[in-house]
Amino acid sequence: MTHLGKCPKCEKMLNSVRVEDVVGKVGSSSQTIKCASYSCPYCHTIISVDVDPYALVAEIVKKVKGK
Ligand SMILES: [Zn+2]
Repeated sequence: MTHLGKCPKCEKMLNSVRVEDVVGKVGSSSQTIKCASYSCPYCHTIISVDVDPYALVAEIVKKVKGK
């Protein structure tokens, strides 16, 4: 099953999105967290930004092992 949705800007039907690494800054501190942005492959409008799931898992494993 293919999920199709429309880009909110160019309104093309999307069956894929571009995923790119971005850095999330936590408030006004210098702490950063790895995130992933999901954008339209046609007009490059960012549809969503989320915490990078692989970086999050790696961070959790590191904290669990450290105890
Ligand atoms: Zn678009």
